[in-house]
Amino acid sequence: MLGSRMKIVLLSAFFTFAFAMLFLALLQNNVHASGTVAYQLVSTFWSEYTTPGFDFDDDASLQKYLNADHPFLDSSYVPSDLVPIDSNFTANVSKTFKLRQEAALAFADMAWHFRDAFSGDRLYISSAYRSAWFQDFLIKQWCKLIKCAQMGTSEHQAGLAVDLKIITRWWTSHSLDITSNPNKYYDWLKSHAATFGFHNTYQKGIDVDGKIVEWWHWRYVWISLATLLADKEQTFAEYYNTIHNEVSK
Ligand SMILES: [Zn+2]
Repeated sequence: MLGSRMKIVLLSAFFTFAFAMLFLALLQNNVHASGTVAYQLVSTFWSEYTTPGFDFDDDASLQKYLNADHPFLDSSYVPSDLVPIDSNFTANVSKTFKLRQEAALAFADMAWHFRDAFSGDRLYISSAYRSAWFQDFLIKQWCKLIKCAQMGTSEHQAGLAVDLKIITRWWTSHSLDITSNPNKYYDWLKSHAATFGFHNTYQKGIDVDGKIVEWWHWRYVWISLATLLADKEQTFAEYYNTIHNEVSK
């Protein structure tokens, strides 16, 4: 039989061991928890500092950034979810113009609101999705004198861009030209397009956007990026370059 003194020593050793184990387990949990908090803080800071959840690189991303230096990874990329644009909301009755599904639905929504705001004057699409092959054809046929997007760099190939004119309720045609007079149609798009996820990509000329001003060209970038660009009064190229310059500092 163990003496009572020995029992006390053994019990004390056992409880010391048990408390030590408990303490270590708690410590590890705390370290893990504070590590998680630290990770969350860093990643939140990083994503806010860099891009709030935008993917500028993947070909199929709604925010794929495209210019001569940032082409499609696959130059013959074809979107997998192209659908005809609902012609009830445009002057196009042939339904030959296509966009990616989300952009097509958002465009129809915007076009309906536009028609409502102007008592029947409608947005008219003159170009939407263009394949890499067709872009190449355009470059060879038409774009020698004006600056067209080179093959593998066009927002039209992404299935996210439309070129727009206006057809009034009296069947007269208007452009979105903003060089001479204030243009009420352009002003409406400028104020409202972002709430439907659309952005006028080329507004500030070659030095800023890498292309001439194209008031007719509207690109779906998703509501949160379009709203952010509208709030900052920046073009997509300006915002993209700002982000990249900050990250590479
Ligand atoms: Zn265009």
